[in-house]
Amino acid sequence: MDIHEYQAKELLRQFNVATPDGRVAGDAAEARSITQEYGGRSVVKAQIHAGGRGKGGGVKFAKTPDESAQLFEKMRGMTLVTKQTGPEGRVVRTVFIARPVDIAKELYLSILVDRISGRVAFLASSEGGVEIEEVAAKTPEKIVKVVVDPCVGLAGYQARELAGALGLTGDALKQSGAFLRNLYRLFLEKDCSMVEINPLVVTVQGELTALDAKIAFDDNALFRHPEIMAYRDLSEEAPAETEASSFGLNFIKLDGSIGCMVNGAGLAMATMDIIQHHGSSPANFLDVGGGASEEAVNNAFRIILQDPGVKAVLVNIFGGIMRCDIVARGIIKASRENGVTVPVVVRLEGTNVEEGKRILAESGLKILVGANLDDAARKVVASIQ
Ligand code: ADP
Ligand code: MG
Repeated sequence: MDIHEYQAKELLRQFNVATPDGRVAGDAAEARSITQEYGGRSVVKAQIHAGGRGKGGGVKFAKTPDESAQLFEKMRGMTLVTKQTGPEGRVVRTVFIARPVDIAKELYLSILVDRISGRVAFLASSEGGVEIEEVAAKTPEKIVKVVVDPCVGLAGYQARELAGALGLTGDALKQSGAFLRNLYRLFLEKDCSMVEINPLVVTVQGELTALDAKIAFDDNALFRHPEIMAYRDLSEEAPAETEASSFGLNFIKLDGSIGCMVNGAGLAMATMDIIQHHGSSPANFLDVGGGASEEAVNNAFRIILQDPGVKAVLVNIFGGIMRCDIVARGIIKASRENGVTVPVVVRLEGTNVEEGKRILAESGLKILVGANLDDAARKVVASIQ
């Protein structure tokens, strides 16, 4: 799960990690009064779950309180397109007003789970503010990785190594030990999957501060963090994916034309591969999981049909724990309730398969049955050509 910059900064403050003052403004008048409080200047920042806002017009500098009010009005409700949003962009629903900082140097710092070592690692670079992917591609030697031993935590020499990589001196160097340790504690205690501070800034006054913050959490640990769950912003998530997750289903939106209902992630991959092999591509896939009920199948089918990209549906179920007759009843129920207009091809195999096929055949609905996966994929691709 991702959160907004203003929420990430609330967490930074809770863990005593320095970050410039800032608050969400509810309206233009509030933007004006916050800016006044900050000495008449502020940075107006669009809150969306995507980076690259600066270049896309989502970070603007106000030189007067009135200007911040105008920028607020312009920014709220706008569709912001950045490198990370895709061409459709994101609607800005929340605007954050930050105290401006006199920047001496922009640096890069992140903590993530390093797959190579299987441990938590810090990444640091003196080249901040810009996209780190670009630094990694052009000058990889400018990114330093420090892997943390979970039994020891961030050791003193490692903090010094990171400070060296960041090129810190003077006061900023003195502040860096606590800054890094507190950030690491936040990462562990809140079960983060990534904390990225880009840019980490050294101010003209020599202070170290987190100018931007992006935090992502491990979804599997959210159950023990109701305070983090409260940060969830459903408007930033694809609505069908949210609805599916409320039924315990896993829905992923893609950009092809065949809707896929499957059970199991491996089967989903195989299904998408074979659809592509036969010359089409998946519009989405929905994993109904191991032992889904008739109702879950019904919901799953409805969610797939709601996707405007879907020109045909392929149901590919291997009934191990799942019973094929339950799948068949769910499909029929959903087809009747939703008035299916697109071709539906079903491949069933496993427990109670004969009964499942009989139920489909006797339903009177126009559902094609595939003899096997290959045959089913061929039929569904042919149905839209
Ligand atoms: P994004 O990563 O989405 O582009 P950032 O928060 O990193 O957004 O802001 C982009 C740039 O705007 C920063 O690299 C920095 O130069 C400037 N900036 C952002 N917040 C402030 C601030 N409070 N004071 C001064 N400059 C800022
Ligand atoms: Mg940034």
